[in-house]
Amino acid sequence: MVDYIAGYLDNISDRRVTPNIEPGYLRPLLPEDPPLEGESFNDIMADVESKIMPGVTHWQHPRFHAYFPSGNSYPSILGDMLSDAIGCIGFSWAASPACTELETIVLDWLGKMVGLPEAFLAFPETSKGGGVIQGSASECVFVSLLAARAHKIRELKISHPEEDEGALLSKLIAYCSKEAHSCVEKAAMMAFTKLRILEPDENHSLRGDVLAEQMAQDKEMGLIPFYVETTLGTTSCCSFDNIKEIGPVCEKYDVWLHCDAAYGGNSFICPELRGPMAGIEYASSFNFNPNKFMLTNFDCSLMWVRDRFRLTQALVVDPLYLQHSYSEQSIDYRHWGIPLSRRFRALKLWFVIRCYGVQGLQKYVREHCRLAKLFESLVLKDDRFEVCSPVHLGLVCFRLNGSNSVNQKLLSSINASGRLHMVPASLGDKYVIRFCVCAQNATDDDIEYAWNVIAEFATDLKELMAEDAITRKDIKKGDVKVEEENTDEVFQMVDRKNRRSLRYKRSQFVRMVSDNNIYNPKIVRSLSGSQKSRRATEEDGSDVTSNSPTIADLGEILCNFEQAVSEHRRGVSKSSGDVEAAASSTTATTADNAPAPAPAPAKPISKAVSDLSERFSVCTLVNDLQQAKQPRINELNK
Ligand SMILES: *Cc1c(COP(=O)(O)O)cnc(C)c1O
Repeated sequence: MVDYIAGYLDNISDRRVTPNIEPGYLRPLLPEDPPLEGESFNDIMADVESKIMPGVTHWQHPRFHAYFPSGNSYPSILGDMLSDAIGCIGFSWAASPACTELETIVLDWLGKMVGLPEAFLAFPETSKGGGVIQGSASECVFVSLLAARAHKIRELKISHPEEDEGALLSKLIAYCSKEAHSCVEKAAMMAFTKLRILEPDENHSLRGDVLAEQMAQDKEMGLIPFYVETTLGTTSCCSFDNIKEIGPVCEKYDVWLHCDAAYGGNSFICPELRGPMAGIEYASSFNFNPNKFMLTNFDCSLMWVRDRFRLTQALVVDPLYLQHSYSEQSIDYRHWGIPLSRRFRALKLWFVIRCYGVQGLQKYVREHCRLAKLFESLVLKDDRFEVCSPVHLGLVCFRLNGSNSVNQKLLSSINASGRLHMVPASLGDKYVIRFCVCAQNATDDDIEYAWNVIAEFATDLKELMAEDAITRKDIKKGDVKVEEENTDEVFQMVDRKNRRSLRYKRSQFVRMVSDNNIYNPKIVRSLSGSQKSRRATEEDGSDVTSNSPTIADLGEILCNFEQAVSEHRRGVSKSSGDVEAAASSTTATTADNAPAPAPAPAKPISKAVSDLSERFSVCTLVNDLQQAKQPRINELNK
């Protein structure tokens, strides 16, 4: 196996970066039932090569420039193999003391490496802080939100002892930027708290005044701000929220400030890249993922808190069989997160840090930054293209001058060719292509190769589109319906399928993660049958990538609303229960491909218009529906 792994990584560039298969490819290749008797290892490995590998997207491939890097290195792989061999389950100190103690030590190392204030470290004597390895940044965000929620409710219980926790919970409100990762929305949804998604500035950075103004308004409305999520290195364009401005606002309102630096935080090991950390002293918690940008294999997301007791108070349950006699003196990481069982993940980090040294890791980060700048310079030299946001770290967002659909077309043809792999993002109302330096040992040649492929496809694009137009015309002569089906170029499918749901999505990139079909036209074609019925129900309209509802949308929603009202008047069974169920199902599905928004409850239409326009200017649908329920909760309180 070790030889196979070495061979795989050495010769990875002989493979296609993305698989050339269609959904369901594996089912016919494997038996329907598991083998009754054990099989030989050689047979299994033969199937790995012939059946599994053809369906693998090779994230370590030098032509892989999608998402963010997936950390990988031999020291990390070997550290993980050792962890698997030891196979301990380190939920408490006693369950495997080295597993806990190494984690605490390595997290203090890393905290110092990225320049965190001492208050976040576990060892300084007066410190209440400390770090922990979680499975993902999403977990770090969720767990920090739970801690903030528990802390705020505990505080409120002191000042309002007679209030029920549920009533207090209904007042809590969290904040993040439109550019925050979708895991924030998911965390708020799971924690049952309101979330207000704020507009960042023109550099995609959330600013203090926007937050302060909104918080003041919300307090006036009787809501209680309790949590602010900021991002240092956003997923779509690696922008940084301004925590130096946001910190004092959080302090003023006694609100938990979390900094999600999943990708960007790794770069803080280079002192010259620490600018965006200014204000970190205001943070209650911070996370970054060495499994993105520090040569460490998934899973490895590190989280630090300034006050570990605030974290564990939200998560402690202590049945007798898990207690041990050193509970007072040692850390029991089971209280720092959701799972009980924990792997020995600190080993791989320890291996990586020791094998490369801080300098080796800094060199790696700086090299990726340099290569991104090299790519940027190539884009800037070609006046058909533009760079769409300031280039930070290893990420460049660029696009062809032209429409969104031309850019979608360009990206989908590049991806379908299997020569490069990239994903898009939506910046403002622009569809942009993200180019990320990912491979550990990426070189100038790799960057130039990628640029040449992109430039070549851009040149071919005009020809291709002209050809398409001819094909379409030919088909049209025969049958209008057939034409409908055959013109499902990727962008058109996206257009129609998701016009409604997409406008509630903050980032096209996030969408790509959950819907990998849209960049492979072959797959799209195979799915086109199932799109027909949906298309029929959807109108033509504005640009797909617009993020917030327009006046036209309001009109549409009002139509639904009017319909609901008239149905109601006619007594056609639209009970308020139905409306509420529809509303909550819309809330849940905004995370995926969603149906149209539900009709609003009956109200005079003029009032509904002003409500809707007001609400859409500041809230997402998620906030929106929760707020619609707010008055009812207040009534309950009486
Ligand atoms: C990648 C990313 C995440 C999600 O990370 P997981 O570890 O997969 O949950 C969250 N936030 C940001 C800013 C990211 O870039």
